[in-house]
Order: sequence, then C-alpha cells, then structure tokens
Amino acid sequence: MEVEEALRERIAGMERRISNLERLVRVSLMLNSTLSLEPLLETIIQVIIELTETEDCSIMLLDEKTGELRFRAARRMRREELEQIAVPLDNSIAGWIFRENKPLLIRDAQKDNRFYQGVDDKLNFCTRSIIGVPLQVRGRVIGVLEAINKRGDKEMSWEDVNVMTALAAQAAIAIENARLMEELRMAYEKLHELDRLKSDFISIAAHELRTPLSLILGYASFLRGSATGQASEQLDIVLQSAMRLNSLIGDMVNLRHIETGEAQLELGIFSLNDLVRVCLQEFLSLIRVKQQTVGLNLPSPPLMIEADRQKLHLVLGNLLSNAVKFTPAGGRIEVLACEREGKAWVAVRDTGIGIPRKEWERVFDRFYQVEPSLSRRYEGMGLGLSIAKGMVELHGGRIWVESEVGKGSTFVFHLPLTQSPGGV
Ligand code: ADP
Repeated sequence: MEVEEALRERIAGMERRISNLERLVRVSLMLNSTLSLEPLLETIIQVIIELTETEDCSIMLLDEKTGELRFRAARRMRREELEQIAVPLDNSIAGWIFRENKPLLIRDAQKDNRFYQGVDDKLNFCTRSIIGVPLQVRGRVIGVLEAINKRGDKEMSWEDVNVMTALAAQAAIAIENARLMEELRMAYEKLHELDRLKSDFISIAAHELRTPLSLILGYASFLRGSATGQASEQLDIVLQSAMRLNSLIGDMVNLRHIETGEAQLELGIFSLNDLVRVCLQEFLSLIRVKQQTVGLNLPSPPLMIEADRQKLHLVLGNLLSNAVKFTPAGGRIEVLACEREGKAWVAVRDTGIGIPRKEWERVFDRFYQVEPSLSRRYEGMGLGLSIAKGMVELHGGRIWVESEVGKGSTFVFHLPLTQSPGGV
C-alpha cells in the first residue's frame, strides 16, 4: 500500500514537471515573438507565479544612472509605485544575486541579514520567502527575477529555482531585445525630428537669404551698366558670386521640395534635341576656357517628349556642369540622346577623373562627394546629382553612372516619352 502511495506521488510529481515543461516551452515561444516590453513582463510574472505557486514575482532591472535596481514589473505594485521604488545593490538580497550572479533560495527572509526591509515598508507587505535568479544577457547581468512567498503550507524548492532559471534566460534576452527595439525607435524618432528641423532650416534660410541676395544682384547689375575699367571687372566678380549663391540656394530649395514630396511636374511637350542644345550652349564659354572639345549626337527627326522642361533643364545642367568641372583641360564632353524601348535616353560622357566603382551609387546621395570636402579641389555642395536623381525619378525614370578612374564617366538617364495621367 505504501509502495503504491509512493508510486502515485512520483507519477504526480512527474506529471507536474511535464506540465511545467510544456508551459515553459509555450512561454519561450511567446517571449521570442513579442517585442513590446510591458505585456511581455506581465506574462513572465504571471507564468512564474503560476509555476512556482507563489504570491508574487518581481522583475528588477539595473538603472545604470543610479546604480540601483528598479522595479519594472510586480503584481503587488501599481505602475506609479514601480517607478518610485528602488532596491540598493548593497545590503539587499536582489543586490547579492545581481553582484554574485547566482540564484538564491531563502525560506525565511526576515531572518536573513541581507534582506532589505524598504520595499515591504513602502508597500505594507510582508515578505516571508524568496527565490531570486539573475537575469543575464551574453554574460552580463541586467537585473534580477524574484518570486515571493510560497502559497499555502508548501516550501520553496530547488525545483522552483530551476523553473525560474529557465524562464530568466529567455526573459532576459526578450527584455534586452525589447529594450534595443525601443532604443532604435527613439533613435529613428530623433532622426526624423532632425530631418524635419533641417528641412525647416533650409526653407527659412533660403527665404531669408533670397531677399538680400536679389537686392545685391539688382544693384550690382545696375551699377555694372555704368561702370568702366577696374570697377566693371570688380562688379563682374560681385555678380558672378551672387549668381552662384543664388544657384546654391536654388539647389537647397529644390532638394527640400523633392524630399518633402512637394515637387510636382509641370508637363509640356517639347523637343529633347532643343533642350540639350540650349543647355550645352550655357556651358560653351566655360568649355572654351578649359579648351575642351564637345560632341553632340542627337536623333533625327528631333525627339519630342512630354515632361517638365525646367526640371530636365536642371538635370542636364547638373550633369554638364559636373562633366566640365571634373574633366581636365583638353578633355572631351559628349552628349547623346536617342529613343529606345519607348523611352527617351540621354547620356553625358566625359574623359575626366572618373569615379571608383564603389562610389557609383553613393554619388547620388545628398551632400556626398568623392573627395572629402576639406581637401577638395573642386567647388560644390554635393547636391547636384541627388537633385538630378530626384527629378528623373519624379518623371518615372532612372539615372545611373558608369565610370573608370582616370578615363572618364558616363551619366545615363532615361524617362518615359509621355507621362501617364495621374502620375507614374
Ligand atoms: P558637387 O558636384 O556639387 O560636388 P554632385 O552631387 O553634382 O555635387 O556630385 C557629387 C560628387 O560626385 C562630386 O563631388 C564628385 O565627387 C562626383 N562626380 C559627379 N560627377 C562627376 C564626373 N563627371 N566625374 C567625376 N566625378 C563626378
């Protein structure tokens, strides 16, 4: 009879262990799939209370600023209380577990001289027994998990410690993941805010700069009309610099419009051949000064496209300006246009300094320049290509570069011949 009784008890014990294990597996699956911290902590507490048959469970995490353990979750505390109660690392059971990185089972907490009375006093609670295990991630302890007061007349056991250790390992990783996600979210938010501030700054700065600049341009060109000799040369420099400043402000405004989605196409039908000729014309004097040669290969009859002429003018202007700028004296600049596969294709080719393979994509990033800006030989802000890319993509087109260092670069873009109504 006694044997039978003992056998039944053993079977019951095994059944309990199996059901605990099943529970653990289910919880670990859940822990691995949840990223938001609060519900996660609540589930951990709930499961531990059930499996260890205790009155409460607390999760404490190290507050790196104060060097104390702070409650993150506990059933016996209200949310506001959690934040206010801290446990010191010195003279506390949780502190001992944290520092020693070892589990602890205490059947009579009140008699243990490490017991910290502060929490019970604040909550009007009486802690009798405690099991605590460290929460650690990759060998680093981040907090402590404690189960408090065994229910009924049972005693805390090492089996409970095993259950908690298994859960603590899962919980610590899940807590750390959720914490990293939270940090990432905050970093993204900050980045977003910075981006918005930058965008606001650009629009305010551009607006504030434009008014005095148009006065400078107006007065300088007025004076230039009547000036002679040295004064006229000096006024030319003033005018050129003011115009350059004007185009830099224009770049910033254009980029902002692309980024905020404010840029819109003003469509018209025009000859691409004509646009290419007009753009090239604007660079001829510069090309002559650098003794570069020019090649032009345009389709016949002229290719008519439906697009935003002003924006394509800007694209071509930026590509030509770079081609002239990054090609040494005596080099060659070529512009080709054609129709292929129902699209208009344009290529601007130069025999300049070239771009290393790994930079082919990055040159289209805003403010990106192959040469670090402080040691630069070429002027510019690194905006031209990102604007060109934005404008081409607004047309539903694509732009890219192929290049060989020391030999030259070819910038190619294509766009649909017509824009479908309602956008692309
Ligand atoms: P910026 O010319 O004002 O620097 P861009 O956005 O137009 O800005 O160009 C970004 C960078 O790409 C340039 O600083 C340069 O390093 C590289 N790049 C652009 N066009 C050429 C080219 N034709 N040949 C060589 N490098 C070029």
